[in-house]
Amino acid sequence: MSYVIAIDEGTTSTRAVLYDLKKNKIVAQKASQIKQIYPCHGYVEENAAEIYAETLASLVEILEQCDDIAEVKGIGITNQRETVIAWDKKTGKPLYNAIIWQCRRTSDFMSELSKTHGELIHEKTGLVCDAYFSASKMKWLLDNVPEVKAKSEKGELCLGTVDSFLAYKLTGGKTFVTDVTNASRTMLFNLETCSWDDELIELFGVDKRSLPKVVSSDALVGEFEYDGVKIPICGMAGDQQAALLGQGCLNVGDSKITYGTGLFMLYNTGYKSIISQKGLITTVGYGIGGKVVYAFEGSVFNAGSAIQWLRDNLGFFGKSSDSEKLACEVSSSGGVYVVPAFTGLGAPYWSPEARGIITGLSRSTTKSHVTRATLEAMAYSAKDLVEVMESESGSKLSELKCDGGASANDFLMKFQANVVGVNVNRPKEKESTALGAAFLCALGLGLIAENDILKLRECEKLFTPENDRKKYDELYDGWKKAVGRCLYD
Ligand code: ADP
Repeated sequence: MSYVIAIDEGTTSTRAVLYDLKKNKIVAQKASQIKQIYPCHGYVEENAAEIYAETLASLVEILEQCDDIAEVKGIGITNQRETVIAWDKKTGKPLYNAIIWQCRRTSDFMSELSKTHGELIHEKTGLVCDAYFSASKMKWLLDNVPEVKAKSEKGELCLGTVDSFLAYKLTGGKTFVTDVTNASRTMLFNLETCSWDDELIELFGVDKRSLPKVVSSDALVGEFEYDGVKIPICGMAGDQQAALLGQGCLNVGDSKITYGTGLFMLYNTGYKSIISQKGLITTVGYGIGGKVVYAFEGSVFNAGSAIQWLRDNLGFFGKSSDSEKLACEVSSSGGVYVVPAFTGLGAPYWSPEARGIITGLSRSTTKSHVTRATLEAMAYSAKDLVEVMESESGSKLSELKCDGGASANDFLMKFQANVVGVNVNRPKEKESTALGAAFLCALGLGLIAENDILKLRECEKLFTPENDRKKYDELYDGWKKAVGRCLYD
């Protein structure tokens, strides 16, 4: 038997997952919660020491469950992206709380900056000029925490994302690295040269000595010592990118969608980074064996949350999964469209002011129609992203790999296949993110080859489209009209 462990450090919990290479499945996992701290309106922090302590506790608990620790061949890491931690290069002590990706403390600064540097930043990094990414959080730490500034001036500061912090801590301070996917979310990383960008580093007032060395996602980064055994730490990637790999999206046009609270899509565009003119983010998909593959990323803020809204605010059903039965009681939405823009519309519309609407109500509309229309809205939102991704990449979507809570809904998956006109492929192993980190680890250690990923990722159910393009194109036209009303009302 041999195993690899994936550390899946998420926004509100951190987990250690034991993956059995021979059985090709996850055999054990241990999760711990991480508390979020809200010091004032719009600020989101976490205790960096707690992030490490909880991660370590989960890791140790999983190791303790192994009969023979020597069978654990390596540890891979996947993590919440963009979150920034500042720590002392010598002691490893965090100098401030982790500033979480959701934190809006630098949003005024970023909206001013976008007027003068928005285009430059977009061209170089593929990102939109927003407080979401790491750079302005790093600047805030340097400007507002005297110890961070002082350590920076002496060359004794580490400024990194969570992958970097965990790798540093787990190797006892021997390694200060980040992987290309995490680097590509900082806003300091040049997609073309695949390295830190001096101009951007200066713009955000960061000292290059404070930044980690950028390595491949499958790189061997160091060793974790436990009970006298040295276990290689190998493979790191941001959570969405790890899911892309876990889903086996290795070729141009391969794409995964996570149907959770929101909807997150990544689309493999191959070796060339393409800067979007239509509201998509360009990001590093993964770096394997020194080669870098790029991806488009699109997010829809409200997807499963709309089902929660029907459940909790309108009392339509007791469990989210009940939405499927209700939707299937009718053969169509009866002309009803729900645009769940509760918090504005994300890609490709980018309208923060938009608010949700329901159109096409008639005297015969029932709960079933509205529920069906809400599920259909998820599929239409995905189609919006697919259209832009295909047109900007010049490639065709091959198949959609799905995961996330709402991907359990067969009606939604079938409707998705019909609306986009490609197969929707649901995997046996639903933990794509952890699986991606496990694959990266195994790849880096030479336990598997890149092509093996395609064999290891097994399909649980394939949803194939009906041969009725006209019908689904007409339905989609109706969605576009509804979105138009929501945007311009
Ligand atoms: P997150 O990681 O974003 O918290 P999950 O991947 O756990 O989300 O998915 C939970 C979301 O998916 C919730 O918004 C829930 O309403 C929705 N959901 C879960 N199961 C179903 C289902 N069978 N049908 C439709 N929506 C579902």
